[in-house]
Amino acid sequence: MSIYADHAATTAMSEAAIEAMTRCMREYYGNPSSLYRIGQQAKEVLEQAREDIASVIHAESREIYFTSGGSEADNQAIRSAALAGKKKGKNHIISTAFEHHAVLHTLEQLKTEGFEVTLLDVHENGVIRPEEVEAALRPETCLVTVMYANNEIGTIQPIREIGAVCRAHQVLFHTDAVQAVGPLSIDVQAENIDYLSASSHKFHGPKGVGFLYARKGVPLLPLINGGAQEKGKRAGTENLPGIVGMAAALKETVAERDAEAIRLTGLRDRLIAGLKEIPHSALNGDAEKRLPGNVSFCFEGIEGESLLLLLDEKGISASSGSACTSGSLDPSHVLLAIGRVHDVAHGSLRLTLGRENTPEDVEYIISAVKDVVSYLRGFSPVWRDLQSGKTPFIL
Ligand SMILES: *Cc1c(COP(=O)(O)O)cnc(C)c1O
Repeated sequence: MSIYADHAATTAMSEAAIEAMTRCMREYYGNPSSLYRIGQQAKEVLEQAREDIASVIHAESREIYFTSGGSEADNQAIRSAALAGKKKGKNHIISTAFEHHAVLHTLEQLKTEGFEVTLLDVHENGVIRPEEVEAALRPETCLVTVMYANNEIGTIQPIREIGAVCRAHQVLFHTDAVQAVGPLSIDVQAENIDYLSASSHKFHGPKGVGFLYARKGVPLLPLINGGAQEKGKRAGTENLPGIVGMAAALKETVAERDAEAIRLTGLRDRLIAGLKEIPHSALNGDAEKRLPGNVSFCFEGIEGESLLLLLDEKGISASSGSACTSGSLDPSHVLLAIGRVHDVAHGSLRLTLGRENTPEDVEYIISAVKDVVSYLRGFSPVWRDLQSGKTPFIL
């Protein structure tokens, strides 16, 4: 038995992407900057990928910049808007407490460079309120950055409404859409998005490649200096096979999107219903405003780490938070942000379903999690104290 239920961490590459990459590596080895035919053929392939990707989010192809992934795109968008703001005397940035570390750590660094950052409350349901974005705006606000969908609890943010607030106040708006590009339909025009980050390996493309959408006319500074690739905004010979693989994976994901959303929502809701039968458990984040494949739970009286190890023994790959924080014993900043106390946040489990998962997988996961949770509670001192009434139950 082997069930991969960690699609928010990464996804298996699709056959279409592997084929497109292999072909690209064999046939288009030229440097897209070279003027002879072999180089120009590579350039054509590069620009076709850019067009294909742009059309998925209703952007123009000249607004797409290829990067090494989601983290780089986040860094570039945020630093570009921030440094341009500072030149005009604007040094305030609004974000949220449950962003990915690629955003939060960039903001931490900007604080040491004289920026002020307001992190909005994400509330118990893990959803930002647009009116609170508006209330946090100051004359010196240069950027609002709010993720499209959260990578741990899967909650989807009111991006269109936040975009409208930013547009009305002429403040730049970035969204980390790494979890959303693929599963959700996105329109950067209608949603007033100025910058958007995406990563190929979250939608069945290769790792180490992603893109930044930057609306024409918005500030954009290179993080990497060198040649004139990507209109001078990202130096270095393009990762052509990676870019071509990403475009192929995205096209395929988008073609299946609507049917897949319905199928995964059904599996997700069945999984949630099954896990809810476990006493003293709770779903993290809004039950409806969440990604089709995301299930995030807290179980009182156990350690998420031991839960993961035992599930792994039963053939299930899951996560207790984001891959970047597991391995450390700090509870997830996302679970703390939605108001989970430390002890409860420690007993968390994230199962993210995707393309390969079946209804049988879901039934197997439900029974495995039930077994493992009751086994672990059997010798947990925390659980004993809860049972005896020495400490009160929270969930
Ligand atoms: C995975 C992820 C990232 C990082 O993307 P990489 O391509 O791995 O650098 C950023 N933000 C979110 C929300 C993610 O899920």
